[in-house]
Amino acid sequence: MKKPGRNDPCWCGSGKKYKACHMAMDEKIESYELQGCIVPRHDILKTPEQIQGIRESSKLNIAILDEIEKRICIGMSTEEIDRIVREMTKEMGGIAATLGYDGYPKSVCTSINEVVCHGIPDENRILKDGDIVNVDASTIYNGYFSDSSRMFMLGNVPEETRKLVQVARECIDVGLEQVKPWNFLGDMAQAINDYAKQHGYSIVREIGGHGIGLEFHEEPFVSYVTRKGTEMLMVPGMVFTIEPMVNMGKANIYIDDEDGWTVYTDDGLPSAQWEVTLAVTEDGYEILTY
Ligand SMILES: [Zn+2]
Repeated sequence: MKKPGRNDPCWCGSGKKYKACHMAMDEKIESYELQGCIVPRHDILKTPEQIQGIRESSKLNIAILDEIEKRICIGMSTEEIDRIVREMTKEMGGIAATLGYDGYPKSVCTSINEVVCHGIPDENRILKDGDIVNVDASTIYNGYFSDSSRMFMLGNVPEETRKLVQVARECIDVGLEQVKPWNFLGDMAQAINDYAKQHGYSIVREIGGHGIGLEFHEEPFVSYVTRKGTEMLMVPGMVFTIEPMVNMGKANIYIDDEDGWTVYTDDGLPSAQWEVTLAVTEDGYEILTY
């Protein structure tokens, strides 16, 4: 880690002297690094101005999901959800982060039942009674990225599937309890994984969360199956997503080899996922996408 002199301006751009700003935090991070821990580099830590930018972006992001929540219904196509997201994002002056990302063709992901994530909206996929749908929106506003998703249950969803959706939601809260400076991402991961397992569910291993803010996907990769005391140290200014994919059956997944995107559970059982973007603060966390 490159360090300024005590009386030099802090690396964070606050204009304060280093000794009055991030020096003590850096020394603490360094002590963890010397013990062999994975620690964040300065360039993934966000300044208060950058966090404000992500907060503004998040306002659009949640307004979009609020609108979907009002309008989603049986008989609607997933293409219609995409149209609402695309038009609303544009009206508010934002850009949908998924559109054109690695060739992804749509402005949102719509993942139904046994689709784990990255379902592509389609005019022929009509929402049916009993479907559970994850709508995952990612928004760029003034250059800042935000990302969140919610589950929607349509009509007569079987009781055991409702339970899955509920536990997936609770996994976010269980994970959040572990988010504070000087905990590890693995503390959060194990809490989430243990909670899902207690209910007889499993967590997808291959796909996880990510740092976010100045880009769509930044470091670190955020797993929800690693162990307490492992993975990156959490420090104030880190911004990342919590978005565990909770499967009713086994954790195994496969990707549709025709479209190259849609991720399915191997056993065909349903999967549920909620997602928030959060910032690690001095004493805990702030959910930006609430
Ligand atoms: Zn500073």
